[in-house]
Amino acid sequence: MSEIKIPIANPIIGEEEIKEVVEVLKSGFIAQGPKVAEFEEKFADFVGAKYAIATSSGTTALHVALLACGIGEGDEVITTPFSFAATGNSILYTGAKPVFVDIDKKTFNIDPNKIEEKISKKTKAIMPVHLYGQAADMDKIKEIAEKHDLYIIEDAAQAHGSIYKNTKVGSIGDIACFSFYPTKNMTTSEGGIITTNNKDLAEKSKIYRAHGETKRYEHAVLGYNYRMTDIAAAIGLAQLKKIDDFNQKRINNANYLTTNLKGVEGISTPKVLNGVKHVYHQYTIKIEKDNRDEWVSFLNDNGIGTGIHYPIPIYKQELYINLGYDENLEETEKAASSVISIPVHPSISEKDLDTIIKVIKEASNKFN
Ligand SMILES: *Cc1c(COP(=O)(O)O)cnc(C)c1O
Repeated sequence: MSEIKIPIANPIIGEEEIKEVVEVLKSGFIAQGPKVAEFEEKFADFVGAKYAIATSSGTTALHVALLACGIGEGDEVITTPFSFAATGNSILYTGAKPVFVDIDKKTFNIDPNKIEEKISKKTKAIMPVHLYGQAADMDKIKEIAEKHDLYIIEDAAQAHGSIYKNTKVGSIGDIACFSFYPTKNMTTSEGGIITTNNKDLAEKSKIYRAHGETKRYEHAVLGYNYRMTDIAAAIGLAQLKKIDDFNQKRINNANYLTTNLKGVEGISTPKVLNGVKHVYHQYTIKIEKDNRDEWVSFLNDNGIGTGIHYPIPIYKQELYINLGYDENLEETEKAASSVISIPVHPSISEKDLDTIIKVIKEASNKFN
């Protein structure tokens, strides 16, 4: 295999992060302590939400948010199959059943027009994912949720800073979850956070995060140890100062790619909904002919890292097949076999972008 010169992701850890972490290590508070509290307060401000509850990962944030909404055995949660497995798995953890709705072919996000036909008496919540950093079509989703009295749990794992019609994701639904995994728009190493404007959901989230404790050594419900450490929060605090700059660089890189890939045959570039700020966790193109593998090999052979987000719809994972899922959603299937993510992260240079554009044009000539 040839060397990948422009990787698909590259977390940026600077002197500030290192200094913050060393301070924590010297302070004696290395588990959940004052840095987590400070991070929660500042992240809540960043999102424009009243409360934030930090967790050990984005996945555990989703699990806790579902529990806080009272979701469990016998319930159904509507979501998208075109996401990372954690979206569906977190629903399974609670004993509830994920019900998958097809995606919109332009944005790859859940198609609100197909939600209502999947609502049953058991439905308790809708969990939209703001995929690739682009907010889902929240007005329509909110309208449906209000009509059927359902919770909205935003999976905002890829969308720190994305905006839907003047409101940041993380404060649109009833409760929202972010991930700080190193490939995401900002990191704490492993880590996650829940945001909400609902005091009751915030209090319940804190209880489920820490062993169901309502008072020291008093356990009211079955909770977990899903706490974030002060070491992780210290990294998060330094990253939070840079997130707007990181996102702006992603947007600039994406705009440069879109402008220069205009009219290139055989691909389509990302489409952004009106009124939405896309923060480009991924820059994902669609290959129009049935020859994605050739594109991927050609890009990799020319030093360009790629990702397939996602090659297998969640309902087609072995786990889900074994649970009895037998689905074939048209737009999801098409997307799973035709998307390629290419580098857009803040540390790529204009020269790298020009290389990517050149190689894609060569691939287009070769494969069309
Ligand atoms: C990354 C991700 C998660 C899970 O986050 P972790 O921090 O890796 O547990 C959940 N949902 C989506 C859409 C993700 O991209």
